[in-house]
Amino acid sequence: MILGGGPAGCSTALALQQQGITQILVVEAGHYQTIRIGESLPPDTRLLLEQLGLLSDFLQESHEPCLGSCACWGSDKLGYNDFLFNPSGHGWHLDRNRFDRFLAKQVVERGITLDPGWRFQTCKSSALGFRLGFQKQNETGSKGVDVAHDRQTRIVDSRFVIDATGRGTYFARCQGAKRLLHDRLVCAIAFFDLPHPTSFSQLTMLEAVEYGWWYAAKLPNNRLVVAVASEPDLIQQWGLAQKKQWLKQFKATQHLAPALGHQPLATNRLTTDLIVCAAPSFLLDQVGGGGWLAVGDAASAYDPIASQGVYKALSNGLAGAQVVAADFQNAPSMLADYQTLITNQFQDYLQNRNYFYAMEQRWPDSSFWKKRLARKMLRQ
Ligand SMILES: Cc1cc2nc3c(=O)[nH]c(=O)nc-3n(C[C@H](O)[C@H](O)[C@H](O)COP(=O)(O)OP(=O)(O)OC[C@H]3O[C@@H](n4cnc5c(N)ncnc54)[C@H](O)[C@@H]3O)c2cc1C
Repeated sequence: MILGGGPAGCSTALALQQQGITQILVVEAGHYQTIRIGESLPPDTRLLLEQLGLLSDFLQESHEPCLGSCACWGSDKLGYNDFLFNPSGHGWHLDRNRFDRFLAKQVVERGITLDPGWRFQTCKSSALGFRLGFQKQNETGSKGVDVAHDRQTRIVDSRFVIDATGRGTYFARCQGAKRLLHDRLVCAIAFFDLPHPTSFSQLTMLEAVEYGWWYAAKLPNNRLVVAVASEPDLIQQWGLAQKKQWLKQFKATQHLAPALGHQPLATNRLTTDLIVCAAPSFLLDQVGGGGWLAVGDAASAYDPIASQGVYKALSNGLAGAQVVAADFQNAPSMLADYQTLITNQFQDYLQNRNYFYAMEQRWPDSSFWKKRLARKMLRQ
């Protein structure tokens, strides 16, 4: 049983099938209707999509190519990091909802059962392994009020459970795992329709500011995502959770706002409300146990500055499936190897993130940058 049908859950389902495991049930709380966040894919994702047998169908989906990044970071000038010499080619800016729906469709087309609209809520042990309780969700994600009482809940037994519920880490926490929190970043995000025709760059644009940093990326269908990342108290202090103030601060950016040229953003081009969401960095102290495993953000979550979340979700699915296959074949457990893999990857991520934040020294008195510069590694 896989809890969560996002990139990590779908990747695990496909990889389990490749390992010869056939009785797989993916249970997803949502209906792939509400906005999903996280759109930049690095070029190496191509290799994972290939391993999962998805690459050619993915390429038909026409997501926006991402040619690299362009950042005002550490100085007032722009610095470029393009994918020109990357052997995997370019990356992508996804229509993230379309991407998640695509993954779910691929799972279903390969004969795996994926049940949307059921939220995992309870767990206890059973003769088979685990007994899980689910609550029906309607299309907007709240409780299914129109459904008869006896069809609002569901109980399923499973021998092995994969927690792919994202940053909520719902199942692993029921098993006693704890999130070791390294950062409490918060993002305020908006999606805009760009006027036709538009020449906005195919690079991800980043700009550091006193209270955090902004990014903007052109998405498929002539849309633009713009987000600001900061600390929770600074989001309040700078009014970044309010549309008007958010837009005012965006317009004050040195490079991002001017990159739109004569097509300035306006609230009437907003396609959604401002979305304010947590983007914490954490590592689970225990990414698996007897009969369960956490993958993707449920196991470890990275700062969006890394643009690694979806890549990590897909690769955890491939690695996690090997752990489950070994368990089903009564082979020596691979859980310790998986734990080491996730911990080492988190360590590498922290090192890169610390290096990147340390490049910005222009605001030594800002609480945002002070906190980032004081960041520690997992092991000293
Ligand atoms: C602001 C922001 C910007 C980001 N930008 C990027 C980026 O540019 N590039 C990138 O690669 N990553 C980015 N990320 C990270 C990326 O979004 C995540 O790492 C990625 O979505 C993780 O995939 P996942 O499958 O592990 O989790 P999710 O995508 O969160 O999927 C979890 C799934 O589980 C379901 N679920 C949750 N609870 C339950 C439950 N109780 N029962 C059943 N189902 C449940 C959810 O509905 C969801 O479908 C960003 C994140 C944030 C917050």
